[in-house]
Amino acid sequence: MKYISTRSKIEPINSANAILQGLSSDGGLFVPEEIPQVNLKEIEKLIPMKYSQRAAVILQKFLTDYTEFELHECAELAYDLFDIQSKVPLAILLNKDMKNSPTGVMELWHGPTSAFKDMALQILPRLMSLALKKVGETKNILILVATSGDTGKAALAGFADVPQTKIMVFYPDGGVSKIQRLQMVTQTGNNVNVTAVRGNFDDTQTGVKKIFSDEKIREELSNLNVKLSSANSINWGRLAPQIVYYFSSYAEMIKSKQIKLGDKVNVVVPTGNFGNILAAYYAKRMGLPIKTLICASNKNHVLTDFFQTGIYNRNRFFYKTITPSMDILISSNLERLLYHETDGDIERVKNFMNDLNSKGKYQVDDDLKKRLDKIFYADYATEEETAETIKNTFNEFKYLVDTHTAVALSVAEKYRKKTKDMLPMILASTASPFKFTNSVLNAVGESAEILDDFAQLDRLSFISKNRIPKNLASLKTAEILHENVCDKEKMADEVLEFVKK
Ligand SMILES: *Cc1c(COP(=O)(O)O)cnc(C)c1O
Repeated sequence: MKYISTRSKIEPINSANAILQGLSSDGGLFVPEEIPQVNLKEIEKLIPMKYSQRAAVILQKFLTDYTEFELHECAELAYDLFDIQSKVPLAILLNKDMKNSPTGVMELWHGPTSAFKDMALQILPRLMSLALKKVGETKNILILVATSGDTGKAALAGFADVPQTKIMVFYPDGGVSKIQRLQMVTQTGNNVNVTAVRGNFDDTQTGVKKIFSDEKIREELSNLNVKLSSANSINWGRLAPQIVYYFSSYAEMIKSKQIKLGDKVNVVVPTGNFGNILAAYYAKRMGLPIKTLICASNKNHVLTDFFQTGIYNRNRFFYKTITPSMDILISSNLERLLYHETDGDIERVKNFMNDLNSKGKYQVDDDLKKRLDKIFYADYATEEETAETIKNTFNEFKYLVDTHTAVALSVAEKYRKKTKDMLPMILASTASPFKFTNSVLNAVGESAEILDDFAQLDRLSFISKNRIPKNLASLKTAEILHENVCDKEKMADEVLEFVKK
């Protein structure tokens, strides 16, 4: 299987190269030349398998330059730190009103940071490390990350002690929550560095971008046997592992007798950058029996408007919501969908992206709109609806969800009401409620503000009768390992110093 760009004709490359490059040099994203197929017999075979085996089978379809053995080993190591044997458990919500329409809530947050980015960021470093060997690269790669909170920790946890890699995370000093900071500065590993920057997130991000585009630093690093890279969410090595859990959860739905092999399901995803739901789209195209992909947005509902009108328009007010990981106006991975649904019309995709760049918007024609209508349904939840859903779900099922998951549940209910389509659903739960304690406590009628971060965790644990995830509970006593702070002008020096160490 080879990979090509969404924006121009390039020489097809294998998956190891696509993963190492991240982004095509024409600015496009890498897509597989064709979409591999999985039949029902193969899906049936997944049922008795454990997660890492299922991962190896599905990933091998795309990463054909890796062996199934290698992929299995990557997955074993990647998901080893998860706090539950099944890796991605499925909670079934079902009541009388829903008749025979169970919702399988796929808990994607049992990894080391209690949020779904771990699903991809725990395995990407392993895939990169192997890719270096495959292409004969002897340099170490250095991953640079600017973070406003969560991605930093997920990347650190993923790259820690992975051979031939180093990772350096910059965060704005005083610009992340107490828990987020503790998660990062207590990170262990021989190849990790965490540095606070005197400035805000924009300064931090600008600093990292500058380093990436500075030829002189690249050369200096090269002399030190180091090559810069990033772990962006548009990297194919992050997307492919996300396809696995749709197959895995479908197998779990069969195992728990919610559905039979071949039954259709709908899939609901709380969406930001369009990565998670795009993975579900690939699963559908591969042959997983999915009827409708339900795209759930928050108050920043640029995607709802796009699917409803055919116009993507980022020129609008940007709201800060209780679902910060979905506060996004440019959903980068949508470009891959446009590519596939125009049957690989690179000229059109390029024009859409140029329009987005220059005018902040683009419009698809009726034909393309009709094609998307057949696959997607889109809606959004307001802040009030999100909080209400947390409360109702808890009251009805004694099941506590985080704010992002609540957006998906709210939109799932709207979908059922509006369309009367009562097919079983698989719903992506993207964060542990303990990750957003403040909003979750407020939603169930507690006054979170009077409690400090750790007291909030305790309170949530008391109410939900669930244990605080170990990675969060242990922060109270974990040793601080990274106290480095630098000026924003000095970030490049810090990088060089870390590499020379
Ligand atoms: C990143 C994230 C999302 C959005 O996922 P995309 O793949 O960007 O659409 C939703 N919820 C949480 C908790 C996230 O961290």
